[in-house]
Amino acid sequence: MAVAQGSCPQCGAPITFGVGASVSQVCKYCRHEVVRTDRDLKNMGRVADLAPVPSLVAVDDTGTIDGQRIRIAGRVQLDHGAGPWDEWYIAFQDGRWGWLASAQGNWYVTLAVAPPALPPYEHLHVEQQVSLGASGTFVVAEKKRGTVTSGEGELPFEVRAGQPRYYADLHGPNGGFATIDYGEGNTPPTLFVGMQRPEGALKVEARSERPVTEIGAQAITCPNCGGNVPALAPQRSERLACPYCNAVSEIAARRVVEQQQAARMSPDIPLGTRGALDGQEYVVCGYVERASDEFAWQEYLLFGPGLGFRWLVKDEASWMWVTPLSIADVDMSSMPRAAGYRGQRYTLRNQNPARVTYVLGELYWKVQIGETVDAMDFTHGGAVLSRERAGDEVAWSISTPKPWSELAAAFKLDPSGSGAQLQGAAMPTFGGGGGGGGGDTSATTIGVIVAIIVLIIVCAACSGSCSGGGGTGTSSWGSSGSSRGGK
Ligand SMILES: [Zn+2]
Ligand SMILES: [Zn+2]
Repeated sequence: MAVAQGSCPQCGAPITFGVGASVSQVCKYCRHEVVRTDRDLKNMGRVADLAPVPSLVAVDDTGTIDGQRIRIAGRVQLDHGAGPWDEWYIAFQDGRWGWLASAQGNWYVTLAVAPPALPPYEHLHVEQQVSLGASGTFVVAEKKRGTVTSGEGELPFEVRAGQPRYYADLHGPNGGFATIDYGEGNTPPTLFVGMQRPEGALKVEARSERPVTEIGAQAITCPNCGGNVPALAPQRSERLACPYCNAVSEIAARRVVEQQQAARMSPDIPLGTRGALDGQEYVVCGYVERASDEFAWQEYLLFGPGLGFRWLVKDEASWMWVTPLSIADVDMSSMPRAAGYRGQRYTLRNQNPARVTYVLGELYWKVQIGETVDAMDFTHGGAVLSRERAGDEVAWSISTPKPWSELAAAFKLDPSGSGAQLQGAAMPTFGGGGGGGGGDTSATTIGVIVAIIVLIIVCAACSGSCSGGGGTGTSSWGSSGSSRGGK
């Protein structure tokens, strides 16, 4: 069902366009880009090689998403400074087309739709509500600039390496997801609307030959020490922190990214531990230690086949089960004092920078030691509604206590083991200070007091000109985003 065909002007190989919306195609034999015009096929020159990126799909794969047949017609590779990611150009059987992307073990499927009047890129900010016409009101979760680096197969535009792409990702009601594509910023935006779906919603039926070696299908070899680490979330993890040598590496590129000090403590739930919780199988694939100025806590990354990733957090007072939320489901009208979810009001408990201090195992994002997000926790009863913001990217989640006895039973661990030992101190209320039960609390408290005194002196010195906050702070956070962040 070709809409156009001919021969590659560079190498003579047959070129077939299967999607009406396609403008260009990267020849699979010579990697020259071929653009179709009214009269012929034009050679646009060679496209840069693709960087290896973990992926569950490949160009020419067919399959179904929620029962709808799709074909993966092409992919574009982009980068916003932290490393490459892929977006897949998909064609539906009825002629419609759109994009498929994955993040955090979720699929994001969108279709091209006629856009209503949309705000200009410069006026957009995270957590802003935007009316998408018939699709409803969506909320901005991410606003970024990427750069096109390479492509493969058919595409609805010409691939020009280095071309900037301005875009915003939005979440809507009932799992809705949308992308406003501002292109290079000088053309009217295009709109893609669809859904966020769990990993199991996509069934790939006929896999094409993979263009790159399957990444870490069975084991990952640490490029620092050569150790073989069993793959726990294969084709989904971006980084490995080696359990033998602690080096952090880029899995697909087999490149050491940074070294880190040996762990001070071992995880209560060892990496590779498997178990079932609420009827879902999980494997513990990653471990992250994070700290604010006053507290430190541990986070476990769990991969659930067919579901995606979930977090389990051990803080000072309890184990918490974290469920990611759509930003569209959070009531932000009383921010920053309170936030609402499902009709319940949660009040602000603390707002702190949260910094990654140590990682172990496989992580689905390009984690860096020291990466910091602005974290806000809102509470009601024992539940915590959390907001993590890194630059122009924001993610919300809700956490509920999970007793260690339940976790120990699920993962076949000692019910009176190290996981049962919590520090017993409640988290501090916002602005209240105090808390903590560790031996270094006094040093931390003195540090905070010194910092406050310094701040008072500095503010007094700059008198009226000091706005107090230091700007919006968007520039200091990395573009890699928060651990809870995603697409
Ligand atoms: Zn060719
Ligand atoms: Zn190693």
